[in-house]
Amino acid sequence: SLSDRLQDTFGRLRGKGRLTEDDINVAMREIRMALLEADVNYRVVKGFVARCKEKCLTSEVMDSLTPAQNVVKIVLDELTVLLGSTDSKLTLAQNRTPNVIMLVGLQGSGKTTAAAKLAYLLKGQGHSPLLAACDTHRPAAADQLATLGGEIGVSVYRGDGVDAVAVASEAVREAVDHLNDLVIVDTAGRLQIDEEMMNEAVAIKRAVRPDQILMVLDAMGGQDIVNVVSEFATRVDFDGVIMSKLDGDARGGGALSVREVTGKPIKFVSMGEKPDSLEVFHPDRMAKRILGMGDVVGIIEQAEKVADEQQVADAERMLREGFTMDDLLSQMQQIKKMGGLQKIAGMIPGMERAMAQAPGAADEDQLVRIEAIIHSMTRGERVRPKTINGQRRRRIAAGSGRSVQEVNQLIKQWGEMNKMMGKMRGLTQQGAVGKKSR
Ligand code: GDP
Ligand code: MG
Repeated sequence: SLSDRLQDTFGRLRGKGRLTEDDINVAMREIRMALLEADVNYRVVKGFVARCKEKCLTSEVMDSLTPAQNVVKIVLDELTVLLGSTDSKLTLAQNRTPNVIMLVGLQGSGKTTAAAKLAYLLKGQGHSPLLAACDTHRPAAADQLATLGGEIGVSVYRGDGVDAVAVASEAVREAVDHLNDLVIVDTAGRLQIDEEMMNEAVAIKRAVRPDQILMVLDAMGGQDIVNVVSEFATRVDFDGVIMSKLDGDARGGGALSVREVTGKPIKFVSMGEKPDSLEVFHPDRMAKRILGMGDVVGIIEQAEKVADEQQVADAERMLREGFTMDDLLSQMQQIKKMGGLQKIAGMIPGMERAMAQAPGAADEDQLVRIEAIIHSMTRGERVRPKTINGQRRRRIAAGSGRSVQEVNQLIKQWGEMNKMMGKMRGLTQQGAVGKKSR
């Protein structure tokens, strides 16, 4: 992946100590290749590498004691700039009810799913959205939106299902009647840029005057993302981008090209098919992720989303009294809730690689196996795993349908985690780690 390649390049630089101009040239060439292979637009790459190189070749960097670190910092900063520098908020007029958000984009880009995800996100922020099913070209489109709306508890206005412009206008009136403060308009797309589609989008835009038009872009789109985006920018114009399918094995080049090519900010990224997989886009965090530096803030936010008072109390008890098998299980379930190990691993530097090198080491199936083993232990054994002798290990293995080795492995893993907890306990008692107050 792009991250792996950039990490390799930086790794080689770090191994060198002092850097020559040649070293920088080689590194920049590698970065250039990595970006091109990740489908970043050619012109964007050229400008980017030129800016990085110029900054790297200053005496300040070359003569510093840690030149490699400086190079990484320069690339990180330039990447952040490329991605838009600052977070871009969704702007809605204060004195207008309902506010209208319209989604546009090619067919299959993820508009309908994004409409539902956005509704879910904004509902969570206290809004009362109404979804308008204005893709009247594919009969299944309104059904799809209705199903998604049902899942997240958001009403969907379908109208006659024929005239997209009328459906949009009526949805706005419907929202007034039903006290919805927000209308999210899903529209039709084509596989390619098409006159009729553009005209319809423009007509809907005129009819409902959206506060925000967001273009949904498939991150897997590759190089021609740039053409599609430029076309939409001139015909319909839009305020920002929702980048979808960033969870897939997208090479990610689109995200890096969009801002520079169109000047439009990425506002949200979508990392999966579930309603809660839409996230506000943070350029600095994305840049760090691309460089494999991890998204620590993201991990904490993700954890806070699922953490409740009980879990905070549990954590405090664990630090006080030690770590039981039940704790180990609930930790693992927690990880599952946070979106699986794959997703978390993607946010921790080096973790994704470590997991790839040890296939199956931390997959979801393993959680099921561990759950079975723990459930075959008695309550006492779960609290004091050290007391489990050889005979009991065999019983537990038989009871859970797993091997004795797996049982041993789990108990060993618990031992290591318990040791880690012990260390943390030591730190808290010394006051080195502040207790989180809530
Ligand atoms: P539309 O034609 O633009 O309305 O696209 P849809 O919303 O129907 O999405 C097309 C397909 O992409 C569907 O199968 C979605 O489930 C899938 N999809 C949309 N967004 C994401 C995403 O962020 N990640 C993944 N993995 N799939 C997505
Ligand atoms: Mg659709």
